[in-house]
Amino acid sequence: MSDRKKPLIIFDLDETLIHSRQEPLGRDADYVLERLHVYFRPNAVELILAASKNHEIAVWSAGSPLYVDSIVSQIFPAHLEPLFIWNREHCSAKFEISYLQTMFSKDLHKMRDFGYDLKNTLIIEDDPLKIRDFGANAIIVSQYFGEEGDDELSGLVQFIEGLNGHGEDVRDIGLNWKTKILPRTAS
Ligand SMILES: [Mg+2]
Repeated sequence: MSDRKKPLIIFDLDETLIHSRQEPLGRDADYVLERLHVYFRPNAVELILAASKNHEIAVWSAGSPLYVDSIVSQIFPAHLEPLFIWNREHCSAKFEISYLQTMFSKDLHKMRDFGYDLKNTLIIEDDPLKIRDFGANAIIVSQYFGEEGDDELSGLVQFIEGLNGHGEDVRDIGLNWKTKILPRTAS
């Protein structure tokens, strides 16, 4: 059906696609932003490219606007244009007494602004608390702290490439990823 919108895949940044730190690791960072050493996760760019084939892509990080825009300009291939690049200001902030800090979360109902709903929105995220009301829409990845041998995303590239963008309801997909069941690749 050509008139159906492509599903949306939203990318988190920190500990999902990159790791930023003040003290460098024992190797050069991929990008230095003021005093921050930014390490790109292995296969992060491949994942973005794979997702862009059959999906609309977007970014939503709880980082500051300047930080988020700067990182996206470095890691997203220049020919791809994310539907939106959102930051902390678009998150819901709530003081959590059990953590003694303000927690930011991502309300996926806000995707209505772009004509998307929970049936056609996925988010790739390392922190379940950020999207706790939307577990079925989340592809939760292990956290990345700059490990050179990290290969979490290589499996996810395959998984995303297996999605043809025509599913009725993407919420099944997030649940499938949790059990690491790869979708059948369209032949
Ligand atoms: Mg994160």
